[in-house]
Amino acid sequence: MKSYAKIHVMHAGELTYDQSLAFKEMDSIPAVHQRGPEYQQKVPVSSYLIEHPKGNIVIDTGWHEDIRTNPKEHLGEDIYQFIEYKLPEGKSVREQLASKNIQTDQIDAVVITHLDVDHISGLPLLKNAKRFLVSAPEWENNQHESKEKWYKGIEFEPFQLEPIPFGPHQLGKDLFGDGLVYLVYTPGHTAGHISVLVRAEAGWVLLVSDVGYAEKSWKEKILPGNTVNDELAYQSLRWVNEFSQRNDVVATIANHDTKIKPTVF
Ligand SMILES: [Zn+2]
Repeated sequence: MKSYAKIHVMHAGELTYDQSLAFKEMDSIPAVHQRGPEYQQKVPVSSYLIEHPKGNIVIDTGWHEDIRTNPKEHLGEDIYQFIEYKLPEGKSVREQLASKNIQTDQIDAVVITHLDVDHISGLPLLKNAKRFLVSAPEWENNQHESKEKWYKGIEFEPFQLEPIPFGPHQLGKDLFGDGLVYLVYTPGHTAGHISVLVRAEAGWVLLVSDVGYAEKSWKEKILPGNTVNDELAYQSLRWVNEFSQRNDVVATIANHDTKIKPTVF
């Protein structure tokens, strides 16, 4: 059996917001049009396919196809006013998997890094996957009611944090028990946020999700606009920065970094 996994970086849509959503400036974040175009930032909404010797995993889901025709209803009035979004034809997670000849019932697990809409909107497109994982602290600390509409009919298995050799708290989950895919507890942006550390052929690939929105986030210690605990968020940034400098790390990738293009590791 191979001693590495393959990672496909996919962009499952785009998101435009006020830059203070990505790089903390103030306590409340303005809506996308409030401060004018010079403050707007357009970024990808990423999803990842991991081909592990024991099965296919999808990390985060990007935008649902409903956003093309029925965005107000899908997002809800508040979020609809707050951001701009786009999902080009062929770019939903389901469509991109199909183009790789992978049907959704061939997905062994969908792992959600945290329960924000841009990470879970596309979940129903993958409802035929075998399992749905989210960390127990993320599950327990979120206001389920407001988000339920995005995961209706999906049965999450919240996983308990276990000791692992990586992360600011050395807690998470060795997904297959073989040291190839670690779910790493990196809280701060949300209570149970996880990053995903994958052993690729050339070395480690660290998918940091929203610990930071770009490389400068961990290099310059810039918090994301939304945090539930700044000290924990700084600890997560510091760990990402430290880990990213190891010689055996191939790439450290934020979900919404404009510099990251779709690729395979
Ligand atoms: Zn996000």
